Amino acid sequence: MLPRPLRLAAVRDENARTRTFIFDAAIDAAPGQFAMLWLPGLDEKPFSLLDTDPVSFAIAAVGPFTRALHRLSVGDTVWLRGPFGTPFALTGDDHVLVGGGYGVAPLLLLARQALAKGNRVRTVIGARTAGELLLVDATRAAGATVAVTTEDGSAGDRGRVTDVVGRWLADDRPATLYACGPHGMLAALRDQAGSAGVPSQLSWEAYMRCGIGICGSCEHDGMLLCADGPVLCAG
Ligand SMILES: Cc1cc2nc3c(=O)[nH]c(=O)nc-3n(C[C@H](O)[C@H](O)[C@H](O)COP(=O)(O)OP(=O)(O)OC[C@H]3O[C@@H](n4cnc5c(N)ncnc54)[C@H](O)[C@@H]3O)c2cc1C
Repeated sequence: MLPRPLRLAAVRDENARTRTFIFDAAIDAAPGQFAMLWLPGLDEKPFSLLDTDPVSFAIAAVGPFTRALHRLSVGDTVWLRGPFGTPFALTGDDHVLVGGGYGVAPLLLLARQALAKGNRVRTVIGARTAGELLLVDATRAAGATVAVTTEDGSAGDRGRVTDVVGRWLADDRPATLYACGPHGMLAALRDQAGSAGVPSQLSWEAYMRCGIGICGSCEHDGMLLCADGPVLCAG
């Protein structure tokens, strides 16, 4: 798949280091899929789709490539390949969504899809501090129930997303649990959901180069996360 040029139509600051990039195009993709963004002469990196029409991404400035993206202005061009990867698939009509860090991005698209079908959507959004929380207002505005956790207690409940999920799984079990975030969080959620007998769909993000299952850089437990994932089902 050849890269295609997209024009940056708008940018919106989400928190101290994360900015939403909105492009002047649409893409046929499902929640949980990702696209490769290329800045010629610099690098190409994967990002989860925050929205498909218009194409949008929520990107944290953490290294050279993402800092270069943050320096772009409206009207600038970015090249896109994709969409790639396995998406989330809605099963049942009562969903728990769990996002850690920028992992919230693909879950907002999933929440909107589920809410449009009239399904129940409960979301837990976690971060280390209040300043690192992402897309809380947008998720509430979409119509989902939102619980917030921070490790330092600066917003929402002090603790981790797994604390809230534990209560929800004990009190009022959902049909399916969906999550995206750090691998440690995903492993804990996979175990929690497995013990409660709730199927899970977890998005495992890893360092990846080609995005299409050729280079092998995203190998994880014998799978290539770009092509076999990033969303893997359990239970
Ligand atoms: C399927 C997929 C979807 C992604 N979606 C998003 C997204 O929606 N928004 C977003 O901001 N980023 C996302 N990423 C991460 C993104 O691709 C880059 O790896 C990241 O933004 C760092 O790029 P960089 O070159 O600026 O920094 P680098 O120099 O590569 O890294 C800077 C720091 O960030 C850490 N880091 C790099 N990549 C990751 C990662 N994948 N997970 C955890 N820590 C990492 C590095 O260890 C280093 O400490 C996604 C990655 C994958 C595989």
